[in-house]
Order: sequence, then structure tokens, then C-alpha cells
Amino acid sequence: MARRNKIYEGKAKILYEGPEPGTVIQYFKDDATAFNAEKHDVINGKGVLNNRISSHLMTKLEEIGIPTHFIRMENMREQLVYSVDIIPIELVVRNIAAGSLCKRLGLKEGEILHKPLVEFYYKKDELGDPLVGEDHIMTFGWADPYELEEMVSMAWRVNDYLNGLFSGIGLRLVDFKLEFGRIWGEQGELYLVLADEVSPDNCRLWDAKTGEKMDKDRFRFDLGNLVDGYQHIAKKLGLIPEDVVQGGNLNEEMLQGLSQIENELTERRRLRDLKAAKPRKS
Ligand code: C5P
Repeated sequence: MARRNKIYEGKAKILYEGPEPGTVIQYFKDDATAFNAEKHDVINGKGVLNNRISSHLMTKLEEIGIPTHFIRMENMREQLVYSVDIIPIELVVRNIAAGSLCKRLGLKEGEILHKPLVEFYYKKDELGDPLVGEDHIMTFGWADPYELEEMVSMAWRVNDYLNGLFSGIGLRLVDFKLEFGRIWGEQGELYLVLADEVSPDNCRLWDAKTGEKMDKDRFRFDLGNLVDGYQHIAKKLGLIPEDVVQGGNLNEEMLQGLSQIENELTERRRLRDLKAAKPRKS
């Protein structure tokens, strides 16, 4: 394979230059980090599962009219996405009290919020991604009022849709984080799209019956094998057959078979003109 130009390496993903101008390859690493990278481990299988789950959810969100940066899954660890200018705001949507909300406001974990809560965090690792308000976003020009309105409205739609999707498969969507990016069209027009990933790395998902945590909290708080939790979610979504993970280890042979099927499908999809998949105007 030709050597590719690395654009950026983050905690969980690497971005490489894509095959067409304006595209990027998003590679999912097996690295798991928490508490602003104070805790770090490499967990075999995490990248593969996040790639599958995020590809699936991005596709579903596109289908309900949320414009995303996602073009297609390339292989087990990679996606082709549009290159975006990331807006430095993380939107967190919460349905049930957990995590930093409980810590900050002294709430009991599991308390159902009478209305979903949308919070903004300034994306700045050095500062530990601090919570900010709308005024901060306006004052420092991180996004304009129209972008902010659009991001919040998309976040509500994503929440409605994902709540339904997960409750239908026996999981409770506790909270999640979204990131958005800008794409400029040929005439200089601006598109706002959902970017990054939507996976158990950025969502809290609890089993509806047992309350078992299936997301990254397993790693954050040593609650059990991370890949088992992610595999449970992928299985419930119908994305992987039984037994891809056995005793915490990936069944490489089975995954290899799956990847061959995926590559064949991708080859067929390649016929689709990239231009036909242009982002819709937000
Ligand atoms: O830690 P906190 O409770 O604020 O996290 C809320 C949600 O946002 C969780 O689902 C967490 O996984 C996600 N999150 C994230 N990236 C961050 C901070 C939070 O994906 N930098």
C-alpha cells in the first residue's frame, strides 16, 4: 500500500490524507484513554468495534436527515470521511444523571432528568475541556449564533433518534458527546456536519434490565472487560455475529472473514460517485 500522509494523531484515532481532495481516512486505534489521558491502555478489538458501530450510527443518522462527515467504511479500522474544520465545542446531551454532572451538582447517578440537558465544553485538552456557556462561545467566536442553533437542534434530533434506537434493543442512552465541523462547498457555501464518531467511547449505554454499563465507563472505572461491553452493543445492533470475542480476545479468523465480505461490499460501493454523496446544506 502506498505510504499515506498522516494529518493528525489523536488519543483514539489517526487521520490520513484521503484519496480525493476534501476527503480524509479516519483510522480507529485500539488505544483507550480516560481522565484526560491520565489512564491509558491498548485494548485489542476496540478500534474495530468502534469503527463498525460509528459507521452504522452515522449512516442511520444520515438517513434521518442529519448531515455527517461520513462517506463509507473502508475496512475494519478505517472510514472515508469528508475533511472538516472542527468547531472547538463538544456538545454533551444527557438524559440520565451520570459522570461529571453528578460530580458537579451532587446528583445521584441514575436520576432521570425531566428534560434532556445540552451542555457545551470547550475542546482544549490542556484545560481538560472546560464546561462553557453560550456567551463564551459567542464572545470567543468559537461558533456563530446560527451554527450554535443548528448544532443544538441537530443534537436534539440525534438524541430523539438514538433514544428510540437503543431502547428498542434493550439499552438506555444515558448521555453522549457530539462534535460538528464545517465544510466549504465549491461556491464558498458553508455546510455544518456531524463529525468525529458516535460510539461507546462517547456514549453512556446501560443495559435496560440489569443496569450493567456497556460503555467506556467499564475502562474508566475498571468495571469489566471493555471489548465485551462494546461487543454486546454491536451484537444488539446486529452488526456482528456471536462469538467474535471469546474470553476477551477477538476471534481473528472470524473477523478476517467479515472483513473480506466488507471489502467486497466496499469495492461495489466505490462505484458510487463521490460527488453524488455531497453533504446536504444544513
Ligand atoms: O464525563 P462526562 O459525564 O461529562 O461525559 C458525558 C458524556 O460525554 C459521556 O458519554 C462521555 O463518554 C462523553 N465524553 C466524551 N469525550 C469527552 C468528554 C465526555 O466522549 N472529552
